[in-house]
Amino acid sequence: MPDTTDPPAKPVRPAVDRKARLAAPSHRPTKQKPETRVLNWDEVSNLFEPGIAMQEAARCIQCPAAPCQKACPVHNDIPAALWLLENSDFSGAADIFRQTSELPEMCGRLCPQERLCEGHCVVGKNALPVAIGKLETFTTEWQRAHGGGTPVATEPPSGKRVAIVGTGPAGIAVAERLARKGHAIVMFEAWPRSGGVLRYGIPTFKQNKAAVDRKFDDLAALGVEVRTSTRVGQDVDWSALVGEFDAVFVGIGAQAGTSLGIPGEEAEQVLTATNFLVRCNLDPADLPEAMRDPLGSPRRVVVIGGGDTSMDCVRSARRLGAEDVTLVYRRTAAEMQGRVEERTHADEEGVHFEYLAAPIAVLRGDAGEVRALRCQRMALGEPDDTGRRRPQAVPDSEFDIAADMIVVAIGYNVEEEWGEVTPDMVRDRWARIVADPDTLATNLPGVFAGGDDVNGADLVVTALADGHRAAEAIHSYLLAQ
Ligand SMILES: Cc1cc2nc3c(=O)[nH]c(=O)nc-3n(C[C@H](O)[C@H](O)[C@H](O)COP(=O)(O)OP(=O)(O)OC[C@H]3O[C@@H](n4cnc5c(N)ncnc54)[C@H](O)[C@@H]3O)c2cc1C
Repeated sequence: MPDTTDPPAKPVRPAVDRKARLAAPSHRPTKQKPETRVLNWDEVSNLFEPGIAMQEAARCIQCPAAPCQKACPVHNDIPAALWLLENSDFSGAADIFRQTSELPEMCGRLCPQERLCEGHCVVGKNALPVAIGKLETFTTEWQRAHGGGTPVATEPPSGKRVAIVGTGPAGIAVAERLARKGHAIVMFEAWPRSGGVLRYGIPTFKQNKAAVDRKFDDLAALGVEVRTSTRVGQDVDWSALVGEFDAVFVGIGAQAGTSLGIPGEEAEQVLTATNFLVRCNLDPADLPEAMRDPLGSPRRVVVIGGGDTSMDCVRSARRLGAEDVTLVYRRTAAEMQGRVEERTHADEEGVHFEYLAAPIAVLRGDAGEVRALRCQRMALGEPDDTGRRRPQAVPDSEFDIAADMIVVAIGYNVEEEWGEVTPDMVRDRWARIVADPDTLATNLPGVFAGGDDVNGADLVVTALADGHRAAEAIHSYLLAQ
């Protein structure tokens, strides 16, 4: 049975016929048709067929500079994995991905490949890039289906104990790496189940939850203990935690949504993206009691925002049965930051995009119910400090969009209350934790932090990359104790 005990040896690769490879046709896995998929919550993309995956992997020209690998935040050795894949060693290919990623099945599905690996693929200069993400998912799912891919401990128990606050991708990476090194790990999670945004955010049509369950089975097999429904600072005292463990990693994400600051937004049918997504996507038993009310069947849903979260909301609204779903975004498609593939999916699924528009009021009926979102037109001015052109209101340009539910998917930040839990921890003006970029050490001795709580709302793969650096630094710190 394959495992990830030893780093896989780099495959020997003879020179390839680059001209022939560049001329080879590209392949993509099949997808559910838009009219079918809006009627279910299953993943949109199917897995590659093995033979087709091998042909697609054989489009890689094995360039020695491997810009795809450099562009990957965890530096997956993509050319080596694709070489094994094209030579039908699917499990070997998966092991290469697992060497640098704890969540390759998910990264293959969730990374914005167009600006990371695939965006730097040399083949992509004159044709479709090699489908690196879909191939990563294929190999790693194939390996799992054939009984492999489970991480095993590499070192005997060290006698050291590490607490991890938060069970999202950053916490997962730290937990797995340190558990394999023999440290005893306890993870604390505020939600009733583990996984962070992987479970409480990202919808099942992008990433099924079985992969999240499997990861926590892996961690349990490594001896990692997970304490769910346990909010540090509320159910567990921070000072007691620091006193009890030899080191602490804080991976609490950036889960606090921003409000619109417009009249009428206190209406019951104006929801935060997280509140909306978790109630669409999860069994009520997996939610805290206060969030178990059904969402009902809104006919007209307006979502405000321009990132991955807003795209997940509009697509969930369609699956909830809403006929009219509109995304309101104050800039244009060119400035949107989420994955292009998901925007295309939303478009195919009948979502209407209202670009260059900003909300100014929620209009309500006699019973206080939401009736419409009043917006005004925007125009793009000079670039702001993010480098994107700043939207400016166009005078006398107001218009209304009929709605019976409004979802706010803008500006995710670290929860303010963390500052009350750890008043001595240095944070920046956006409430993000300040950590050393190399070691992820905070100003508190033995306390490290990474993922969205340090970077602001970002990506699964960048949270993993932080987890890797933090795990290495925590291991060194523990050895020096
Ligand atoms: C709806 C949505 C869709 C997204 N889609 C994508 C995508 O397609 N691709 C992509 O790469 N990225 C996507 N992202 C971003 C990605 O999910 C995050 O960048 C990533 O999950 C960050 O990982 P993390 O470990 O830092 O934090 P999180 O995943 O946020 O996990 C933090 C965990 O800490 C817990 N926690 C917080 N405070 C406490 C406390 N005091 N005590 C105990 N536990 C606590 C939280 O409950 C949470 O479970 C999406 C984000 C959202 C919200």
